Amino acid sequence: MTAEYVTPVNEDGTSFEDYWTDELEKAEATLHKRDGTYYLHVAVKKDVEPSCDEETENGVVLGVDLNVGGYVAVTSTGAFIGNADYLNHRRDEYERRRGNLQQTGTRSAHLTINSIGSRFARWSADYLHRISKAIVREAVENDCTAIAFENLKHIRKRISNASKFQQWAFKELQRHVEYKAEEYGIDVNDVNPAYTSQRCSHGECGFTHEDNRDGDEFECLKWGKRLHSDYNAARNIGWRLVQHWLKSGAGRATSQLALKSGTLNANGRFRPTALRS
Ligand SMILES: [Zn+2]
Repeated sequence: MTAEYVTPVNEDGTSFEDYWTDELEKAEATLHKRDGTYYLHVAVKKDVEPSCDEETENGVVLGVDLNVGGYVAVTSTGAFIGNADYLNHRRDEYERRRGNLQQTGTRSAHLTINSIGSRFARWSADYLHRISKAIVREAVENDCTAIAFENLKHIRKRISNASKFQQWAFKELQRHVEYKAEEYGIDVNDVNPAYTSQRCSHGECGFTHEDNRDGDEFECLKWGKRLHSDYNAARNIGWRLVQHWLKSGAGRATSQLALKSGTLNANGRFRPTALRS
C-alpha cells in the first residue's frame, strides 16, 4: 500500500524546521501506530566535525537548573527559559477535558479524546524542543564545551511529588539537549546536585546554609550577595562539574564556568568576557 506523506506548510517551530533540510540525508523510515495515530519516524544523517581534545581540556561549562515551577530552565549565564507553570496549566486543561469526555463515553467523545491527546502530545514535545534549543543556543553563544545538568535520579528524589508528566518532561528535555548539543561537539554531563540550592555561588564564597534560600530569592547570610535562587543553583551545578574535572585530574585545571559577563575559573577567579582569549 502506498500513502502520500505531507509535511507541514508552516514548518516554524516544528522539528521539520531543523531536520527536514537538504543538508540532512534521510535514511530509513518506519511507521508506528500509537493510540490510534500513525507516526512516521524518519532517521536523518549529518556529518559533524568531531570536537578536538585540546578544546575539552580547557572546558567551559554551562550550568543548567531545571524546575517544575517558575522557569523550566535557568542557566549559569543568566538565561531564564520556558514557563513551567504554563506547561503544567496546559497539561491540567488537557486532563480536565479528557476526564469530561471520558464520562460522556460516546464514540465521538472517544475520537475527540484521541485527537486532543495527540494534539497535546505534539504541543508539549514542541514546547520542550524549543526550550532545549534555547539551552543549546546559550551554550554555543557562550563558547561552552559542556552542559551540566542535575542528575535525573536526584531530580526524581527532589520532586518526588511531581507528576509522571513532569518527570517525563525533564527526561525528554535532557534527551533533546543531548542530541542537539552533540551536533556542536558539546558534551552533556550529570552532576550530583547536593546543596546546589543552599550554596553561595558568588566568587570564592561558597558559604552553604539552608537559610540562604527563601523561595525564588537567594541571599548569602555571610556576605549578603543576592541572586535569583535558580540562577544561583545553575551556577553551582556548573561549578560542580568544573570541580569534578579538577579533582579527577583530567588535565583540566584551566576549566571554567560560563557566567553572565565572563567566566569563573576553577580557583574561583572571575574573568570578564572581553579578556577571554
Ligand atoms: Zn556568599
